[in-house]
Amino acid sequence: MSRVLMISSEAAPFAKTGGLADVLGALPPELNALGDECAVVLPRYGSIDVSAAEKVYSGLRVYLGGGYYECDIYKKVVRGTQFFFVEHLGLYGRDGFYGDKFGDFGDNHIRYALLCSAALGIARYLFPTQIFHCHDWQAGLLPLFLKNFVTGDPAFYGAKTVFTIHNLGYQGLMPRSKLWEAGVEDRFYRSDLLEFNGAASLLKSGIVFADALTTVSPRYAEEIQTPEFGFGMDGLLRARRGALRGLLNGCDYDEWNPKTDPHIAMNFDADSLEGKLACKQSLLDEFGMGRRISRPLIGIVSRLAHQKGFDLVGSVLDEMLGWRDASLVVLGSGDKDTENLFAGYAQKYPDRMVFWHGFSNRMAHRIEAGSDLFLMPSRYEPCGLNQMYSLRYGTLPVVRATGGLDDTIDVETGFKFWRFDSWDLAECLRHALAVYADPPRLQSMQITAMGRDFSWAQSARGYSALYQELLSRS
Ligand code: ADP
Repeated sequence: MSRVLMISSEAAPFAKTGGLADVLGALPPELNALGDECAVVLPRYGSIDVSAAEKVYSGLRVYLGGGYYECDIYKKVVRGTQFFFVEHLGLYGRDGFYGDKFGDFGDNHIRYALLCSAALGIARYLFPTQIFHCHDWQAGLLPLFLKNFVTGDPAFYGAKTVFTIHNLGYQGLMPRSKLWEAGVEDRFYRSDLLEFNGAASLLKSGIVFADALTTVSPRYAEEIQTPEFGFGMDGLLRARRGALRGLLNGCDYDEWNPKTDPHIAMNFDADSLEGKLACKQSLLDEFGMGRRISRPLIGIVSRLAHQKGFDLVGSVLDEMLGWRDASLVVLGSGDKDTENLFAGYAQKYPDRMVFWHGFSNRMAHRIEAGSDLFLMPSRYEPCGLNQMYSLRYGTLPVVRATGGLDDTIDVETGFKFWRFDSWDLAECLRHALAVYADPPRLQSMQITAMGRDFSWAQSARGYSALYQELLSRS
């Protein structure tokens, strides 16, 4: 069994903007249940309350860029997992995780270099570690630090690194001139190391220096080796394909279970689907659309980012909401163009569409439970979690067949289209609406969908086996 320290910029329930946080909230407890010992390191953002946490280290000195930062380390145990928070008020104490209304913070390279370096300190003094499991670009410098800067330190003999790519589209770029501030010497600025299109990439650091690479679905592990999905790193990923594998994320069924969900109007399961109808009624009532209960309801819960493909939806909404008379509920925020698109259509069809701008866990649960169909037309999708939640709630996903969406949805449980094209999306939605109009068929698909099992236990076994494999190498 392995001692694993995960390094991440997000983890539920402390800091969440997307699926990364869900993974860090669910995978560690699952690994612990298997017998590994897994802890997590996070920045102590201003929004994280540490009043009930234990201060386990005062004044940890972290040397970066010719000076040092002094951090305090707090610890809190949630679901049997230790979470270590690195506190440095000047760097993490502000509002926002990665940026504010003016854009990304200009010192993110320092903030996340500090996180990586502090994680090594935590491993040395608080949590002896065999495997450093680094998540996304924010943790990309740790494998570099470990392989180059602490090689003589017995605390780290035999330690291995795993780097998980949750989204290749975020590459942690910074100018060469700032590398030294992140504690990295200029000699690492080489095309086979950190240099990427004229900048330094912290994501590339993780890909180059980690002992093993993973992505969050098998399909995405293949896709990122192609020019279409590789964001310019496909050549490097092909070169490292021997170290790369795809391990599908799981679904947290403690949180996403219609039988026990406290946020929804009535609990239900595959044997009591009338509860789902009550959830639909309640959701529609909340938005003043209660009389539309017999019409198909499409749900969307998402970051409204370019990646998610909602620009395709614009050209099909008139057909779907207009003469096909479907209803639509959208929850999310993000790109202004997409927000304007949804706000515009909500104005045009006020009796059948609602755009709820913002982030609401309660509303996300209510939409999953109350919708008939769930739409995810992603350009690319490393794994995607909402389609798995939808399956469990009998809400049939309509998805583009990419990444984890392709891995988790099949003809018995949802609807897929392949080309990123509004015509193909429209055709797929027409098919889904035809199934909605055929209740026995709809119900049979719903019951099959609700029976699909993407539990974390399966994913955790994959990671655990990978750790063992790495540790068995000398
Ligand atoms: P990504 O990580 O790319 O955003 P995922 O599908 O992997 O996409 O994970 C998204 C997670 O964030 C899900 O748990 C989803 O319910 C949640 N989420 C996204 N947008 C919102 C929102 N506006 N309100 C509440 N939850 C949201």
